[in-house]
Amino acid sequence: MSAPAPTVQAAFLAAIRAALPELRLLTDAIDRESYRRDETAYLEPPLPIAVALPSRTAEVAELVRLAALHRVPVVPRGAGTGLSGGAAGVEGGLTIAFARMNRVLEIDRDNFVVVTQPGVINAELKAAVAAEGLFYAPDPASYETCTIGGNLGTNAGGLCCVKYGVTRDSVVGLEVVTADGSIVRLGGRTVKDVAGYGLIPLIVGSQGTLAVVTEATLRLRPTPPPKATLIAFFPTLDAAGRAVSALSAAGVEPCTLELMDRTTIRAVDDVHALGLDRDAAAMLLVESDLPGDAAGAALEVAAGACDGAGATASLIAADAQEADWLRQGRRMAFHAMERLGVARMEDVGVPRGRVPELLAAIERVAAEQELTIATFGHVGDGNLHPNIILDRDDPDGEAKLKRATDALYRAAVELGGTVTAEHGIGVARRDYLELQRGAGAVAMMRAIKDALDPLGILNPGKVLPEA
Ligand SMILES: Cc1cc2nc3c(=O)[nH]c(=O)nc-3n(C[C@H](O)[C@H](O)[C@H](O)COP(=O)(O)OP(=O)(O)OC[C@H]3O[C@@H](n4cnc5c(N)ncnc54)[C@H](O)[C@@H]3O)c2cc1C
Repeated sequence: MSAPAPTVQAAFLAAIRAALPELRLLTDAIDRESYRRDETAYLEPPLPIAVALPSRTAEVAELVRLAALHRVPVVPRGAGTGLSGGAAGVEGGLTIAFARMNRVLEIDRDNFVVVTQPGVINAELKAAVAAEGLFYAPDPASYETCTIGGNLGTNAGGLCCVKYGVTRDSVVGLEVVTADGSIVRLGGRTVKDVAGYGLIPLIVGSQGTLAVVTEATLRLRPTPPPKATLIAFFPTLDAAGRAVSALSAAGVEPCTLELMDRTTIRAVDDVHALGLDRDAAAMLLVESDLPGDAAGAALEVAAGACDGAGATASLIAADAQEADWLRQGRRMAFHAMERLGVARMEDVGVPRGRVPELLAAIERVAAEQELTIATFGHVGDGNLHPNIILDRDDPDGEAKLKRATDALYRAAVELGGTVTAEHGIGVARRDYLELQRGAGAVAMMRAIKDALDPLGILNPGKVLPEA
């Protein structure tokens, strides 16, 4: 949609103030600036015309109703940790930030669900349910900063997806505001429910382009036993890739299976001084939360599989503290990377059996483009994050980056994989949606978008390529 004229924008803001006098509405440029971008610093998105901080669903509904009336785009926003530009500003648009809708509303022990507002930080939700002896599984590496609304927007993955699935697998109910400002409830608290079309899986992962989520009912589990943790070092990336297949073949079902390559190992060790093997080409972090002795037994099998694939060392963490340091080192890998230069995190995925080929493709792209690419990620899901590190002074940097991302996306698709396994298409990967999905599937997506958002006001320019 085209940007609304300045007079329309002014009338829209005046209508908001009249209808919602209590609403916190940021209009100063300096305040709006912090809502322009997400973690995709390389994009140059427009500044929102205003930022609304609603505190209840009725306010969100009124904001969207007025936006539809004035044909003003709206961008839902969580914590802005996204890595695809999903929450970035749009031309002439209002950003709705959920920081004040940050309450856990109910923990329902009988039905193993939690009802929450979207602005709750993932780690805070986890802590709230843990205090009741319950467990909310999805755990993006950014879990201490990202919100449940953002996790629902991107269908976030994380370190324990390999056992517990992605965000979508934990959603049983949603309250959403649709593009005309109506409030609609989807799902409920039942474990099984096949009445009509599956709208929850459609909304989750749609990056705010089909509806705005104002409440979620999420599935809980009993708290799993403490994790046992293994790290294994490898002389080549290929050996680490083969170890991943060997672990599956040996019947190990870890709750975490992460990879870090040499550049990542060194960057993480520089920051956290964990005493990692800095000469290793790759490291695997394998964890099990099976009960009793079963976790230790699973890690013994895992160590055997790693050794069989050529590991130079396999070590079991001495205690929970050491395990936590190792896990935290992996979680902070992206920030460690940012010390090396301008780091752009990519998010390709392949069927698990093709991980060694993906690792080889990443090395090939790095060599061809004469770039450092540091790779880490959720290798147990076949999901790797190649981080392209740019020298700030390289005049050819942007061009190299474009060539490298193009080659990475094409390699992933050729291997039967995806250009984005968990971060989303957003703005950053729009041009590759059709390569990934095909024209027929993109046409179906457009039809859904047109049906649910006929005026095109919900986060326009995100996910779908220009028509
Ligand atoms: C260091 C680091 C590590 C990361 N690790 C992981 C990881 O392991 N796994 C992973 O999946 N991601 C990871 N991410 C990416 C990011 O944290 C996730 O995508 C997260 O889900 C974004 O949450 P957020 O609250 O920051 O959302 P935002 O970035 O604010 O928004 C993300 C998307 O959701 C939409 N949205 C937000 N709120 C709503 C709502 N209420 N209704 C509808 N749509 C909404 C936005 O419009 C946007 O499209 C990482 C990021 C960083 C910086």
